Amino acid sequence: MKIRDLASFVPTVTADVTGDAVYSRFEAEPDVMLIAVVDADQRPIGLVERNAFLLRMARAYGRALFAHRPISLLMDAEPLVVEADTMASDFTAEVMSSRPGDLLGGFVVVDADRRYAGVGALLDLLRAASEERSRFASDMFELAQSLEAAREQAERNRVFTEAVIEHIPTMVWVKNVADGRYVMLNRAGEAILGVSREDFVGQTTSDYFQGAVAETLRAEDRRLIEAGGVSENDMLPYLRAGSEQRLLHLKKIAIRDSTGATEYILGVGEDITERRQVEARIERLAHFDSMTDLPNRVLFHAQLDEAIEQAARRRERAAVLVIDLDRFKLVNDTLGHAAGDDLLAKVSERMRGCIGPRDLLARLGGDEFAVIQTGVTDLAQTRALAARIVSAVADAFDLGGHEARIGASIGIGVYPEDAASGDDLLKKADIALYRVKSEGRGAFRFFERDMDARIQARRTLEMDLREALHRGDLAAHFQPLFDIAQRRITGFEALMRWPHATRGWVSPAEFIPVAEDLGLIRPMGEWMLNESCRAAAQWVEPASVAVNISPVQMHMPGFVADVTRALAHSGLAPNRLELEITESVLLDNDPAILKNLHQLRDMGVRISLDDFGTGYASLAYLRRLPLDKIKIDQTFTRGLPDAPDATAIVGAVVRLATDLGMTTTAEGVETEAQLDMLARLGCTQAQGYLIGRADADPAARLGIQGLSTPRVVNG
Ligand code: C2E
Ligand code: MG
Ligand code: MG
Repeated sequence: MKIRDLASFVPTVTADVTGDAVYSRFEAEPDVMLIAVVDADQRPIGLVERNAFLLRMARAYGRALFAHRPISLLMDAEPLVVEADTMASDFTAEVMSSRPGDLLGGFVVVDADRRYAGVGALLDLLRAASEERSRFASDMFELAQSLEAAREQAERNRVFTEAVIEHIPTMVWVKNVADGRYVMLNRAGEAILGVSREDFVGQTTSDYFQGAVAETLRAEDRRLIEAGGVSENDMLPYLRAGSEQRLLHLKKIAIRDSTGATEYILGVGEDITERRQVEARIERLAHFDSMTDLPNRVLFHAQLDEAIEQAARRRERAAVLVIDLDRFKLVNDTLGHAAGDDLLAKVSERMRGCIGPRDLLARLGGDEFAVIQTGVTDLAQTRALAARIVSAVADAFDLGGHEARIGASIGIGVYPEDAASGDDLLKKADIALYRVKSEGRGAFRFFERDMDARIQARRTLEMDLREALHRGDLAAHFQPLFDIAQRRITGFEALMRWPHATRGWVSPAEFIPVAEDLGLIRPMGEWMLNESCRAAAQWVEPASVAVNISPVQMHMPGFVADVTRALAHSGLAPNRLELEITESVLLDNDPAILKNLHQLRDMGVRISLDDFGTGYASLAYLRRLPLDKIKIDQTFTRGLPDAPDATAIVGAVVRLATDLGMTTTAEGVETEAQLDMLARLGCTQAQGYLIGRADADPAARLGIQGLSTPRVVNG
């Protein structure tokens, strides 16, 4: 038989194919043991052997290291190469005498011009010997028969067969039925059992197998002796002499004499200890996250279903906590991915310390984790668990000298109250999580029935807002700012308006936070700036325009450039533009923002502090900031002129502002009495329905003359 006849034509790969691709091939094709690596001319340059490759991938970081790297790093670069026309027996004899070890890894078959023609394994040579391409078991049976016939066969064939048996990596032994003692063992058998053949020959089954295993094997032998045939055992524990217990795959074949009686039992075995370990490793890879060593999403889902079934049987509760890390992305982006990985491992460790022995913590992916809490009899247990996690994660982390502060937001779903199935429960926990995140993060919340509807409404609003921005449905309206001493309108505040198809006008108080969350505030804010400057530049009177700036906008790089561009495009003088910021911008104490504010002021743009009195800023705090104007929130105006504390507060703010060289605007002025009181307190400007509501085209409404004498105030 020629090598050509026993080679298998397995499709090849090229050297640049990734480890992952080869992994998938092996996974999809369990019968493929060897894959040849060829160059552009189909000439073999390497060989990948299944077991060696999988072992390598299963090693710590093996997958991570080789998944995306070329297979050329993992292949045997000097494989045995044989021409297809060589006689199988010649090749075997030749290799046995020169490089017997090499044969274990298989060989590549080429045709006359050295192009790839297939691959072959030792087993194929063995098959060649038995001249049959049937299953391994019957191969061995045939082989046993040919052993008997070997005496009469040509010398060359005998040497060949013996060489094959001697060199196959599979253990082969023969037992004499008459006395139950072994009569032969090959070299692989010596290594597997850890015994020399001299010591082995003459011993019995009980010398290598213990207790129940030995009993099973003896019973099998009795059956083989009576009825013949084949027996097979997977994962037999056996004692390797002088070492630990190992696992064996063993197949036994009855060999009959000319009368039909079983004379010998042929044993064919393999030590599968390592293979089982590899399989267990691969199994683990499929169910555990390698970075944190926590169960992954797949295992989590399976466990969740089980937890729910169990809770149903025992009439208990089960809780699912979905955990999302706050600001993780920031750490990852600023300190790098290695620090991000380090952080994830440390967070996992801390969270592991928070859960009980019956709970399961899993990593669902990215910076998302989840806990299944079982045996819940009182929701206080779940509340306590969530609180422990929130506080454990809130403590600072040391990442190689850098201190990182993150947080955990947790949404909780409870079986059976919130859902009947695992998937549903997870959805409910997600909804609660979404709510926590929209409320400021770093906290936990249980799912509540009305969250569903609110989330739905919010999603619709989000979609509509994107659409509105895309279609240019948003509009700028302008509300007059009235100078109290001069008794005339000196400017306008630009307020964003959204005419919604079904809901009518949606308040900016509702949609601005949504735009901030969706990352739409930058384009929306930029549009508003441009639109306001463009409109103001058309006004005949040199009235100023005040534009509201979201804190999120202020944090974005390029904000000063956006303002500069809006002024340049419209031709509006910088001193006619006011920017209204809120206290929350300043609370961060971000030096970049202070720098931006100074830069804008240096250009001539004025800065107003909006809604003063509603936040945390103290009066003393104002001294440090580059402000031109303070806008007193309408809650204080509303108390004028009768409530003494409102009068006192407005008076104090006006005095302080004057001392610091700033002006003041009272918001929400609705009555003449309020305006009188403001005049007496020395407030600079008034804004409110008394003077005028926001309007799309204020110059047209008030008329060019109207700009200096508003109708309402004239009475
Ligand atoms: P704000 O900057 O304090 O704007 C004043 C709000 O008070 C406006 O509400 C205005 O219509 C309302 N208002 C004015 N006079 C009176 C009055 O006499 N009585 C009462 N009860 N209310 C009065 P609006 O337009 O709903 O805006 C709400 C908030 O949305 C604004 O508060 C501002 O913070 C924000 N906003 C509006 N437009 C924009 C924008 O273009 N960008 C950003 N980032 N925020 C905006
Ligand atoms: Mg404002
Ligand atoms: Mg305001």
